[in-house]
Amino acid sequence: MKLRKTPDEIACMRRAGRVVAEMHEACTLAARAGASTADLDRAARDVLERRGARSNFLGYHGFPAVVCTSRNAVVVHGIPDDGERLEDGDIVSIDCGAIVDGWHADAALTVAVGDVDDLSRRLLAATREALERAIDRMVVDGRMSDIGAAVQETAERAGFRVVRDYVGHGIGTEMHEEPPVPNHGPAGRGMRLRDGMVLAVEPMVSAGAATTRVLGDGWTVVTSDGGRSAHFEHTVAITPEGPLVLTVP
Ligand code: MG
Ligand code: MG
Repeated sequence: MKLRKTPDEIACMRRAGRVVAEMHEACTLAARAGASTADLDRAARDVLERRGARSNFLGYHGFPAVVCTSRNAVVVHGIPDDGERLEDGDIVSIDCGAIVDGWHADAALTVAVGDVDDLSRRLLAATREALERAIDRMVVDGRMSDIGAAVQETAERAGFRVVRDYVGHGIGTEMHEEPPVPNHGPAGRGMRLRDGMVLAVEPMVSAGAATTRVLGDGWTVVTSDGGRSAHFEHTVAITPEGPLVLTVP
């Protein structure tokens, strides 16, 4: 594991990123009222198989699926389940990754199932914008904490709270590499951002409490007051030409 990747290595990660984007597309299409969260997992598995890619989620510390499906008050790490049906008005975060030729990509998005309430709509928009603003700060000679500052500023301006118990991460030949990428804090601190660094940036934003707890299955992370939360993530390379988002089609 090394902090800075070569252009060739970033090109490999871009291929993994395209697979992840395709998994998101398939899962988004599958995320309809009446579908189960296990249906989303199956849709993602089909893409991995079709593209000859491997999952970096399946078996990770024993995780049993290729996607984390995190519905409503679930922040992250929800386990797909045939018995968990999506209902009109739900929001569900779809977090997944892929490995191509040994290189990893990781991304998440949160989708609305059918017609969602205004608060959920604003939560999704604010969390997506927090990720976009954070990516804008991923430039050579920027500072690590500029990323989290952009997330926090965007989320709080919209009236929401940043979940601080979980952070983004470096990514490369492993899914979780150094350095951690916090989603909060003042700008202008921490390590300098360098050409070739690849980071998975992943704001988790709550419409309720910012604090979380883990359910009895040992995985499912929920907001401590049952407020809804959203999660968006991209794998992004820092290049001399600016941030390069790898997990898009
Ligand atoms: Mg992820
Ligand atoms: Mg991640």
